[in-house]
Amino acid sequence: MKKVLVLEDEANIRSFVVINLKRAGYETIEAGTGAEALEQLKRHPDIRVALLDIMLPDEMDGFEVCRRIRASSSKIGIIMLTARTQEMDKVTGLMTGADDYVTKPFSPAELTARVDAICRRMGDDAPAADAGTISAPPFLLNTRNRTLEKNGQRVKLTQVEYAIVKLFMDNPGKALSREEILRSVWGEKYYGELKIVDVNIRRLRLKIEDDPQTPTYITTVWGYGYKWGF
Ligand code: CA
Repeated sequence: MKKVLVLEDEANIRSFVVINLKRAGYETIEAGTGAEALEQLKRHPDIRVALLDIMLPDEMDGFEVCRRIRASSSKIGIIMLTARTQEMDKVTGLMTGADDYVTKPFSPAELTARVDAICRRMGDDAPAADAGTISAPPFLLNTRNRTLEKNGQRVKLTQVEYAIVKLFMDNPGKALSREEILRSVWGEKYYGELKIVDVNIRRLRLKIEDDPQTPTYITTVWGYGYKWGF
């Protein structure tokens, strides 16, 4: 059973989330503070997805927990739980390495759809025929262990970033609309906003472009979307 960490200080919200995840077939690990969450992650290295509430009572907030998780692992999926008034938090959360965010109040269907989408992206049902490498100098994408190298150097990617790069490399030179990217990477049932595509691409450019201000690998197709190369 796939393990999901639920970090939320409000007991009623936490049990609401836990009940719904269990109903959807997940095993849940609970935490009420950032320190507890990091402790649980150490105890359960097989946690696949972490749901992180942002506003927590002690000094370590959800962003800090996110940063600390990312410092040691790019494999775990991270979804931030945000309040409606925290619009800016969404972007900041994604920039610190979260894969997705869910705005409170959320429906059980929405939440489990997001967790399902992240698990799918993490390659649970990746077909065996998919294994191998895609070469697009200076890049080499290894689809077996889901890693990217640039000039022989490993580029640390989150699972979402990996999925975006793979989509581009599968479609070199083809303009992909933001909707297409969203559907392909986040899944058909994704309820979120298109903006999440731009936020992730901005972060990806910081990692792979020679000069992120004048991108040459992931180029913008104005009013439409993005393209791999010119
Ligand atoms: Ca809270």
